[in-house]
Amino acid sequence: MESTVSQKLEALLNLQKIDSRLDAIFKVRGALPEEVQDLEDEIVGYETRLEKFNSDLQSLEEDIKSYKENIKESERLIKKYQEQQMNVRNNREYDAITKELELQDLEIQVSKKKIGEAQARIESKNADVDALKETLNERQKDLETKKSELDTIISESENEESKLKTDREKASKKIEDRLLKSYNKIRDNAKNGLAVVMVKRGACGGCFNIVPPQRQADIREKKKLIVCEHCGRIFAGVEDEIEEEPVKKKRSTRS
Ligand SMILES: [Zn+2]
Repeated sequence: MESTVSQKLEALLNLQKIDSRLDAIFKVRGALPEEVQDLEDEIVGYETRLEKFNSDLQSLEEDIKSYKENIKESERLIKKYQEQQMNVRNNREYDAITKELELQDLEIQVSKKKIGEAQARIESKNADVDALKETLNERQKDLETKKSELDTIISESENEESKLKTDREKASKKIEDRLLKSYNKIRDNAKNGLAVVMVKRGACGGCFNIVPPQRQADIREKKKLIVCEHCGRIFAGVEDEIEEEPVKKKRSTRS
């Protein structure tokens, strides 16, 4: 069933009230939800890096272990060759064993050098791990603080928020798709989130530009949808001046 302009305006204004309240709730939360998310992402990044450091350390330790085993093996061989050398039958055999001994000695030197290098890398990596852990610790504290701040704020408004979201769904259904689309578009472009406004004290309630009296009269009639010629917001009606001062003279002297 077609609704009248007046009904459309009423539905729009109702939706606007719900959205403005939701805006206010989100404004209180401010940048906190985003900051919490950023910190969580940052922490995941640090944890991944820490895991990588630890696995690097582990493989360096394993390298050292295998170099040490190489040294032991070389020492065992050296001992064996030295015993053989005592029982050689000629110079050629003696020289051959001497070469083997030299070779094993060289092997030991290479392994020792590599152990030294691995230990230096472990040391510097450990320093990196310590620094990283410190940063991680700080960020985790930041996160806890911000999270509890956000939780408090959310808990203060979460019931209202979920009720408003239900209300919003219902309120949206009462507005035809095309009109709802323009409403959302106007709202997206408006800094204060207002798409539907009243004329207040002769001016647009959204951009505060003067609305001429004839236009105000048209708005009061509610025969068609009228938008602000300056900001494009939809006029829902004209707000009357304060009612507790019904005498015209008083009102005119105030303004
Ligand atoms: Zn305006």
